[in-house]
Amino acid sequence: MSLLVAKGLTKTYQMGDVEVQAIKGADFVIEPASFVAFVGPSGSGKSTLLNMIGCLDHPTSGTLAVLGTDIATLDRSAAADFRGKNIGFIFQDFNLVPVLTAYENIEYPLIMVQEWPAERRREQVMRLLKAVGMESQADKRPDQMSGGQKQRVAVARALVSNAKMVLADEPTANLDHDTAYKIINLMKKMRDEFGTTFIFSTHDPKIMSEAETIFTLEDGHVASTNHQEAAHV
Ligand code: ADP
Ligand code: MG
Repeated sequence: MSLLVAKGLTKTYQMGDVEVQAIKGADFVIEPASFVAFVGPSGSGKSTLLNMIGCLDHPTSGTLAVLGTDIATLDRSAAADFRGKNIGFIFQDFNLVPVLTAYENIEYPLIMVQEWPAERRREQVMRLLKAVGMESQADKRPDQMSGGQKQRVAVARALVSNAKMVLADEPTANLDHDTAYKIINLMKKMRDEFGTTFIFSTHDPKIMSEAETIFTLEDGHVASTNHQEAAHV
């Protein structure tokens, strides 16, 4: 089964008397364990699409099936439940909790949403700290980390609940180029290791070359889908 199937997806925002048609009919399919990017200029609807996939925003029309569930039909509380079980998020400004250490930031979703026994929680956090290369920084707080280190912690946090897909809206926008490549390649390594699908948005052409599938957004539609060998190593 495909992980995600969107058909005729639309999103219209009402701004006073004005309707903004952010997405005008998007069709796409995303397979499990894939590494895909939505690209397009600012305002092309990347965030709107990711927010709908992430059950943060409700489609105006169309269907959006995730693992066979049409998430367009979920009410607010069912959507929150679905999100907590299946979806991890990575943000452009990292969104770590400033008073918590790297370890505690990664552990946070397990404490908030799920009732994992302490020992299992510890093992999972340690496994992810190691996977993202931050074991030796476990006790650091965000203000003691570089941007790249913060995003590594955020990648670990997105994976800690065993999400089936991780959504990353311009995850490299606040990173220099070398660090941006490293983070994208880290996400790909996590895909290889955990089988998690990564869906990110970017408008940086150099970062696009890292994705295996690129959906180009134009005028509220997916104008083209390209499958490619990732270029950069
Ligand atoms: P991108 O992430 O590609 O820059 P967005 O999805 O943020 O694009 O925006 C797509 C379009 O929808 C833009 O015209 C934007 O102004 C509009 N838009 C996005 N969010 C809202 C909102 N909450 N209310 C009204 N218009 C919005
Ligand atoms: Mg955006």
